[in-house]
Amino acid sequence: SSIFAAVEMAPRDPILGLNEAFNADTRATKVNLGVGVYFDDNGKIPLLAAVKAAEEARLKAAPPRGYQPIEGPAAYNNAVQNLLFGKDSALLANGQVVTVEALGGTGALKIGADYLKRLNPAAKVYISDPSWENHRALFESAGFVVDNYAYYDGATRGVNFDGMKASLKAMAPGSIVVLHACCHNPTGADLSDAQWAEVVELCQAGGLVPFLDMAYQGFAEGIDADAVAVRAFSASGLQFFASSSFSKNFSLYGERVGALSIVTANKDEAARVLSQVKRVIRTNYSNPPIHGGALVAAVLSSPELRAMWEEELAGMRDRIRAMRTGLVDAIKAAGVTQDFSFVVKQRGMFSYTGLSAAQVEQLKSDFGIYAVSTGRICLAALNTKNIGYVADAIAKVL
Ligand code: PMP
Repeated sequence: SSIFAAVEMAPRDPILGLNEAFNADTRATKVNLGVGVYFDDNGKIPLLAAVKAAEEARLKAAPPRGYQPIEGPAAYNNAVQNLLFGKDSALLANGQVVTVEALGGTGALKIGADYLKRLNPAAKVYISDPSWENHRALFESAGFVVDNYAYYDGATRGVNFDGMKASLKAMAPGSIVVLHACCHNPTGADLSDAQWAEVVELCQAGGLVPFLDMAYQGFAEGIDADAVAVRAFSASGLQFFASSSFSKNFSLYGERVGALSIVTANKDEAARVLSQVKRVIRTNYSNPPIHGGALVAAVLSSPELRAMWEEELAGMRDRIRAMRTGLVDAIKAAGVTQDFSFVVKQRGMFSYTGLSAAQVEQLKSDFGIYAVSTGRICLAALNTKNIGYVADAIAKVL
């Protein structure tokens, strides 16, 4: 018999399953609020003008396609470091930071998880409750036991900060804490600057290993403002990990562009850590693809293209904000008295709306509006054409 005869069907990815159902829906008014992708006001995934310009220049130059260094090109890694740590960072000047290109934010988390497993196999990993669903799977597949720390407060639709602090205090030294650097997915509830300072202190006091996941830099307040957590940990003297993704802020989802950065204690340590991380990469996919990283490096290193990108990024950020305000106003205008103003306080692409699984189901069956059963919606899928329809539908299912 076949060697695969006993293979069971793996559970479907809940969000990809939602996409399949959405694609099969024939209603012209259907709206997909499930997927975590930024769409423009016409419902299209934008190709940023800065990216297009970099791509055209590259096509014209027609460079050869040799192998890249295992860790990716220095121009790319330096650009990532400047974005994350700030170009005047003392850590960068000291050579304490290891940065390697990775296959998106997911690839960065995977390389980081595999390396951490070699560094401290007995450590336990903690992710927020709730978190991006792939966090648990990624760290479990690296061999870790994964648990939650308290994070979301359903009553305030904000952060349960006392609960979070209690969780951090209870962790064993050496525990790995995965933190959303900004634009928390799925809740949209972020820590304040002052709260980040407290989290840094608790990580320091508890001997914890922070792993900052930065998937949305520039989507909340701005490039530097959104790096507040990274900067606070940088100033603390702690060693920590940070994953970055250019999927959202460069709209380069399918190019798989990201990076893993590791802050070590000194330059000598950095060289040794880099050598080990390179082994993880070498035995996984050998070296990263060229194209996406080359575009990001070209944009970030050209003052003209960078200014263009910053403006386009601000445009995406402002549009999401306008959709947050617009949705709250439209729900109110539809006669709902329940307070939805929390949607404006939440940041990034997502909101935990508080809609129940039954209400989400009714949005789908009655209106062709698709959301995650937890009540998470993607604000970046709203536009001036569908926002009224969505608000009216929400008002009807409440
Ligand atoms: N972390 C978080 C919190 C995310 O929301 C995402 C994207 N959905 C990622 C990481 C992964 O990003 P990428 O698509 O670049 O792998």
